[in-house]
Parts: sequence; structure tokens; C-alpha cells
Amino acid sequence: MAVKRVIEEKCVGCKTCVKSCPADVFRYDSEKKKAYVKYGQDCQLCLWCVTECPAGAIELTKDREFPVFTCWG
Ligand code: SF4
Ligand code: SF4
Repeated sequence: MAVKRVIEEKCVGCKTCVKSCPADVFRYDSEKKKAYVKYGQDCQLCLWCVTECPAGAIELTKDREFPVFTCWG
């Protein structure tokens, strides 16, 4: 599971997710006055944004693929 997107219709533009994500995943669109997911691949799954968003505007996905690390090569 990882962060997929900000649901625009729900986002109230408070920037809480932009300011608090430890992985710097979000950016703020000042024209739309909404946050959006810019670097979703960097999400560390802490779920802080989901917990803190006052509007329930952050959608998760189960689609994330984790890289496979090997000890050779
Ligand atoms: S789950 Fe954590 S790392 Fe991922 S986008 Fe939200 S705050 Fe950032
Ligand atoms: S915390 Fe939620 S409401 Fe606030 S900017 Fe982020 S997605 Fe929008």
C-alpha cells in the first residue's frame, strides 16, 4: 500500500500533508489551491498524511511494487 493521490474534490488546501510528509511526497498547486502527489514512489508508508489530513482527501493504493534486493551482483 502507498499513497496514490489527493482527491481534489475533498482537499481543502491546508498544506498539512505538504509540510509534514517525511519523504517530501507532496507538492502544492497554488492555482488550484490543492495538494497533489508529486513523488509517490518515495512514500515510506508511515501513513502520517492519512492520519493528519482533516478532509480525508488522501487515497491509498495497494499497487505498490517493492524492489527486490539481493546480496549478490
Ligand atoms: S504515508 Fe508518510 S511518507 Fe507516505 S506520503 Fe504520507 S506522510 Fe509521506
Ligand atoms: S492535508 Fe489533506 S486537505 Fe490538507 S492539503 Fe493535504 S490533502 Fe489537502
